[in-house]
Amino acid sequence: MLEKMEKGFDPEEVIEEFEALTKDAKRVQVETLKRILKENSEAEYLKKWGLDGKTDTESYSTCVPLVTHKDLEPLIQQIADGATHPILTGKPITTITLSSGTTEGKRKFVPFNDELTETTMQIYRTSFAYRNREFPIGNGKALSFIYGSKQFKTKGGLLAGTATSNVYRSAQFKKTMKDMQTPCCSPDEVIFGPDFHQSLYCHLLCGLIFRDEIQVISSTFAHSIVHSFRSFELVWEELCSDIKTGTLSTRITVPTIRTAMAKILKPNPELAYKIHEKCLSLSNWYGLIEELFPNVKYIYGIMTGSMEPYLKKLRHYAGGIPLLSADYGSSEGWIGANVNPTRPPEMATFAVLPHIGYFEFIPLRDAGPLGRVETRPVGLTDVQVGEEYEVVVTNFAGLYRYRLGDVVKVVGFHNSTPELQFICRKDIMPAINIDKNTEKDLQLSVEAAAKLLAAEKLEVVDFTSQVDLSSDPGHYVIFWEVSGNASDEVFKECCNCIDSAFVDAGYVSSRKVQAIGPLELKTLKRGTFQKILDHYVGLGCTLNQFKMPRCVGPVNDRVLRILCDNVVKSYISSAFG
Ligand code: AMP
Repeated sequence: MLEKMEKGFDPEEVIEEFEALTKDAKRVQVETLKRILKENSEAEYLKKWGLDGKTDTESYSTCVPLVTHKDLEPLIQQIADGATHPILTGKPITTITLSSGTTEGKRKFVPFNDELTETTMQIYRTSFAYRNREFPIGNGKALSFIYGSKQFKTKGGLLAGTATSNVYRSAQFKKTMKDMQTPCCSPDEVIFGPDFHQSLYCHLLCGLIFRDEIQVISSTFAHSIVHSFRSFELVWEELCSDIKTGTLSTRITVPTIRTAMAKILKPNPELAYKIHEKCLSLSNWYGLIEELFPNVKYIYGIMTGSMEPYLKKLRHYAGGIPLLSADYGSSEGWIGANVNPTRPPEMATFAVLPHIGYFEFIPLRDAGPLGRVETRPVGLTDVQVGEEYEVVVTNFAGLYRYRLGDVVKVVGFHNSTPELQFICRKDIMPAINIDKNTEKDLQLSVEAAAKLLAAEKLEVVDFTSQVDLSSDPGHYVIFWEVSGNASDEVFKECCNCIDSAFVDAGYVSSRKVQAIGPLELKTLKRGTFQKILDHYVGLGCTLNQFKMPRCVGPVNDRVLRILCDNVVKSYISSAFG
C-alpha cells in the first residue's frame, strides 16, 4: 500500500501521531489553547475581556464569555467590511466562509484562514488512514459530487465562499486527494461550473467514462449522492448517447465546461452499450452503483444527523457496496474524525482531534417537561459517557467559546479523547406548549410512518415540518413528498402514526389535553423538494453543504411558500381522539 502512496503521506504515521495526541488529549488541549491565544494576543476581542496575555484554561473560561454567532455578527461584519485593525485575530482575516444557512434559513459569515484549510486536511488524512486499513484502495479516481460555489468579494474586498469551496480551491486539497489516491475524476471546470445541474450531469458523465478506475463515490453530505443518482435515473439514456457518439448533450451550455469535457469525451459505443444494458437489467435501480462502477470500494460522505433519512435510498443504489460515514465538522471548523469506519453509518462516532481547536461541552441534562437544563461547560477530557452536550468551539480563525448549536452524545473514548455521536441541531422545533421535540424525534416519527408506506411499495422522498402557531392551539404540520400515490386511508394512517410516534412526554401530555392541536400531514407534489433545493442554490448555497431544513420557521418564508404552493392534500390526525 505504502509504495502506492508515492511521495504522499504515510497513513501509519498519521495513525501513530493521532494515537499519541489522543493519549495525551488534556495536555494537547491546554497547549492548543495556549497557541491560539498567543497567536491572537493582539486581537481586540481578547483584550476586551481582560485576558492580559494569560493563556491558561481557567483564566480563559473565567474571562471570555460563551457566545453565539449572533453575538459575533457585528464584529465579523466589520471584518467583512474591510476593517484593518485586529478585531478577532492577530493576523488579518482574508477570507470569509458562508455557512449553508439551511438549518436556520439565514446564511452566516464566518472568518476563515489557512489554519482551517490545514485542519481540514488533518481530519481528511486521519480518517483516511483508519479507513484505508479496513478498506484499502488502489490507485484510482473518485467520483466526487463536489461543487465550488461562486466566490464573491465582500464590501471590504475579502473573498467569500462556502467552506468547501474555499477548501476545494486550495492547493493542499488537490495534493491531499492525490495522496489519498482519490483525485476527483471530473475536471475543475465541472467542479467550479456556474450551473450545478450542468456540473452534476458532467460529474455523472466523467464517472461513467472512468468507470473502471473509480474507487470511491463521495460527497460531503450523503444527500448529494442520493440526489445525483436520482438525477441519473432521469438522464441515463442521454449520458449513454453522449458516450456512444462522443458528443456532449446540448443541455451543457457553459463554454468552459464544454471545452474541458471535449478533452475527455470520445466516442465509445461499446461502453455506451454496456452501461445501457446494465441499466436495463436493474430492478427499480437496485444496486445501480455496484453495476456502474465495478471497482468501487466504498461510498463515502456524512450520513449521520439530518442525512440519516437518505440512507435507505443510498443502500438501495449501493447494492453490496459498503457505506462509510464521513467526519464531523462545520463552517466554523472540523471537530472529529470517524476512526471506526466499519461501524454502520447510523452508529458512526467522531473522535475529537485535540490539536485542531479548543473544545468545551455544555452538559444538557434532561429535566423532564422543563426541557434540557444547561450547566457549566466542561473540558474535552471531562465529559461523561452517556451524557449529551452542546459543542463549544475555540478555533484558530477568531472564534472564542463559540456555541455551535449541535447536540452530541459521548459514547466512549478513543484513548483520552471522546468519541461523539451526532444527535441533532439544537432548538430546531420551537415549543408550542411544554413539548421539546428535536429534529431527531421528528425523523423517528416520520420513519415510523414511512414503514406504512413501504408496505405500499412507496417511499418518502423527503420531508420537513412547520410549527404552526396561527391556529389555536398551535400544532405541528408535516410536509412530505412521496414517490407515488397512496390512498387517503393510508395517508390518514400515516398522519396518525406520526402524531402518536412522538415519545416526548411534554408533547404527548399536551396532545392529550389538547394544549397542542392535532398534527397535520400535508402531501406535496413530486419535485417540491427539488424546488427547495433550487431555491437554496439560487441563494448561493452549494449541493455540498445542503441540508434540508427539518423545521421551517417564519424567517424562511420563501421555503414555506414553496411548500404551501405545492400541497396536494392535507390530513388531520385523530390519534388523540
Ligand atoms: P454548515 O453550517 O453548513 O457548515 O454545516 C455544519 C453543520 O452540519 C454542523 O454544525 C452539523 O449540524 C452538521 N454536520 C456536520 N457534520 C456532521 C456529521 N458528521 N453528522 C451530522 N451532522 C453533521
